[in-house]
This record gives sequence, C-alpha cells and structure tokens, in this order.
Amino acid sequence: MIIIMLGPQGSGKGTHSDILGTKLGLGHLSMGEALREAAKEKTALGKRIEGILNKGELVPFELTIEILKNEMKKPKYKKGIILDGFPRNMQQVQALDKMIKVDKVVEMDLPDDEAIKRLGGRWMCKCGEIYNIPDKTPARKGVCDKCNCALYQREDDKPAAIKKRLKIYHEETEPVIKHYEKLGIVAHVDCRGSIDDVAKRVEKAVKG
Ligand code: AMP
Repeated sequence: MIIIMLGPQGSGKGTHSDILGTKLGLGHLSMGEALREAAKEKTALGKRIEGILNKGELVPFELTIEILKNEMKKPKYKKGIILDGFPRNMQQVQALDKMIKVDKVVEMDLPDDEAIKRLGGRWMCKCGEIYNIPDKTPARKGVCDKCNCALYQREDDKPAAIKKRLKIYHEETEPVIKHYEKLGIVAHVDCRGSIDDVAKRVEKAVKG
C-alpha cells in the first residue's frame, strides 16, 4: 500500500501521516524530516541542505531520490509506506512512477491565511514532539511536556520562508495533485478543525 500525503505547510500532513501510519501499520517517510536529519551532518552536503531548508526552497532532485531509495530498503516499510511531502514537483512524480504504483493521494486542504497562522504558532522539541499554539499548548510556556527541553521554532517557519514555501506549493505541487487526479486516486481532506476530527476525515478518505 502506497499513500502519498500532500498539503501546504501547516496543514498537519506530518502529524496525520504519523496517526494514519500507526492505524494502518504502514511506515511513515517524511522527506522533510529525512532532509532535516541530513542537514544536521557537519559536512559540506549537510550545510548545503541546511541552507536550502532554511530558505524554504526545494532541495535538488537527485538528493531526494537518493534518500527515497535508501529509506525504502528499510524493514519498517515492508507492509507499505506513507510518503509525506514526496513527490512535490513533476520531476519527482516521473521518477516515483517508474519505481512504484501509488494507491492513494491525500491532499490536505488548508487556505493560505490559515497555514500562515498555524506555522507562526508551531513550536518544536528536539524529542520530536510538536506543539501548535493555541490548539496544542505545552503546560509550561516554551518547555516540552514530554522531556522538559526548551521548544524552538523552525527556521523555515519564519515569515519570509513561509511565503516562499507556499508559493512553491501552488506553483510546483498543485500540478502533482492534478496529475494524480487524472488517475482518480486523489482524496481531498479539509484540514480545519481539531486533530481528532481531521484524523477521522483522513482515515475515511483513505478507506473510502
Ligand atoms: P516539510 O517538513 O514537508 O514542510 O519539508 C521541509 C522542507 O524540506 C521543504 O521546505 C523543502 O526545503 C524540503 N523538502 C521536503 N520535501 C521535499 C521534496 N519532495 N523535494 C525537495 N525538497 C523537499
């Protein structure tokens, strides 16, 4: 089972890929997360990736394909995979279509103004926990409930990068959705509302 999750920044595709992956027993591969991991490497490549991520631009095609191929070898994807944030442009679609057959594409719909509001309120912890103020607020301001570490804001969640990421989404990723629409495998999910409500909609969209 191969499911693609796409949506503008802030639509919650990471959170819902996780929830859905657990429910269906599928491995969750977040391209953004894999790239953030690669950016931590203190190598020339790591630094280059970090620079691209911070600006909110897409990283070069070859690199995403290399990550995808390496990840897909891992046993956690044996039953299937939830591809979160890949493919994001037509070049990536063409590469993916040669590798696997996609069963379902979920488009997480969210208006731009709502996406901007949400990203401004997104705070991360190094343990992986994500807070969305005011919907999911830590008990102590700026401190993770799970591990007590200080929360931080992603560099690419700052205003200039958000604007660029949304522009790229409209210009490069929307044609990807149109491509899969022609194959009749796209489900659109309204991402406004609580995490629980959206999770139910996502599950219904995938099973329906
Ligand atoms: P995300 O966490 O999905 O919002 O992705 C964070 C960042 O990772 C994006 O703004 C891009 O810089 C990079 N990225 C994620 N997925 C891709 C992709 N499929 N192709 C190129 N760059 C990507």
